[in-house]
Amino acid sequence: MAKKKVILTFPPALIEEPVTYNLIKNYDCQINILKATVRPKEKGRLVIELNGSKEAVNRGLQYLKEIGVQVEPLAQEVRHLKERCTSCSACIPHCPTAALSIDRAEMKVSFRRERCILCEACLPVCAYKAMEIEF
Ligand code: SF4
Ligand code: SF4
Repeated sequence: MAKKKVILTFPPALIEEPVTYNLIKNYDCQINILKATVRPKEKGRLVIELNGSKEAVNRGLQYLKEIGVQVEPLAQEVRHLKERCTSCSACIPHCPTAALSIDRAEMKVSFRRERCILCEACLPVCAYKAMEIEF
């Protein structure tokens, strides 16, 4: 079995297309949508985890590229650099999975890696560059 997390960017013409359905139905891939952003008449962005046999995943990725979907690998890891973090809490409302949370008693921000879906939402909001991404 193969597993790949990728970021898909759809041009406007493909937003209405049943791309994920096709991946499941025609390419035997299982899909877990981690994040979706669609702006009508602009472009769409999906963060997905593709599962299946190595061949199925490769064929699915090839299909996406052939129809014009931009495919980028998702970061391998997001790190919380404690020495830079001021526990300002600016990142907390942006984290969709509560991987970043604050201990109200101590006013200290902590990071639970197992909850992180690598969506990168915390990176631009941290003024102290305490969230780092590794590809
Ligand atoms: S925004 Fe940055 S400095 Fe502030 S709590 Fe989050 S990681 Fe720490
Ligand atoms: S990458 Fe996303 S899920 Fe992970 S800590 Fe940052 S905001 Fe939360």
